Amino acid sequence: MRKLASVRKIHEIVPIAGADAIELAKVDGWQVVVKKDEYQVNDLVIYLEIDSWVPNELAPFLSKGKEPKEFEGIKGERLRTIKLRGCLSQGLILPIINGMIEGDDVADFLNIKKWDRPLPTQLVGQAKGFFPYFIRKTDQERAQNLQSEIAAEHHSGSLFEVTIKLDGSSITVYHKDGEVGVCSRNLELKLNEENQGNTFIKTATNTGLLSALKALGKNIAVQGELMGEGVQGNREKLSEHNIFVFDIFDIDEQRYLSPDERLEVYGTLSNYGFLGNHCPLLEIRVPLISADINDLLSYAEGESLSHPIREGLVYKRMDGKFSFKTISNKFLLGEK
Ligand code: AMP
Ligand code: MN
Repeated sequence: MRKLASVRKIHEIVPIAGADAIELAKVDGWQVVVKKDEYQVNDLVIYLEIDSWVPNELAPFLSKGKEPKEFEGIKGERLRTIKLRGCLSQGLILPIINGMIEGDDVADFLNIKKWDRPLPTQLVGQAKGFFPYFIRKTDQERAQNLQSEIAAEHHSGSLFEVTIKLDGSSITVYHKDGEVGVCSRNLELKLNEENQGNTFIKTATNTGLLSALKALGKNIAVQGELMGEGVQGNREKLSEHNIFVFDIFDIDEQRYLSPDERLEVYGTLSNYGFLGNHCPLLEIRVPLISADINDLLSYAEGESLSHPIREGLVYKRMDGKFSFKTISNKFLLGEK
């Protein structure tokens, strides 16, 4: 679903005040600074989204004359959110290659990977194997890629839950047919002696989540953000590691619970001794404030639990079947 590198159409080109060598090109909900007169409105182009890992051969200028960095064995650079002449620029536009048509996903063809921050050592642990096939990985699509869907949701008046997006590390803890498991973003971890020092395992144990899931006995996966010391600089200044639940996946029915169902099961797990939190709930059962992505992006700006700049917001439709994220541009510009 993620459109890391795809063929899209430029729908608008805007001048940048005081700049005569560059201008702003818009594709879907994104804006990118480009060289003046290099592209025209309606041009098909390759658009690379922020956090694409771009191989050096494809865009050597990204390394600015320095030695390129390396990620997953590929020399290149990460596309970040930047400001040029005071103008926000997100991603990269490149000319299409013969034969490409609108909508083509060209990430594999161009060898583009999704950049992910490497896990700190106390989180890595020993893997039991890949992420369980019977659970979905936690991922949210960016609002900028869902302009028409969001406009339709606004017009139809659909109701949403809005939670604050916390910047920690994704953790999944599940119970299935009498067995429990703990997973990081991409892997399942061993529940053995050697892994007892691992922060995912310790927190799943110490918050009582593993025992509450066993006691409840349902085949579900609780997904949350692991927060605390050593995780993303502990931005919320927690004194102990904790889990902030944002989703519950029903393994038997292969679907995410709706926000109401999730809050209910979260309450039941708490009754069984689970000490973890729920992600901060900003609003529930509200329509989208606007059909315009830029309004939603402005609304994403604000404080988090104890940090003045939050990462953003996550919107989940009350039926649990449609969701997206709006990331704060202030957060992105300040990212290390
Ligand atoms: P990203 O890390 O930008 O790819 O966004 C998706 C991730 O946000 C998920 O994998 C979660 O780990 C994390 N996340 C943090 N807070 C929330 C929240 N309130 N709702 C959903 N996901 C969240
Ligand atoms: Mn994240």
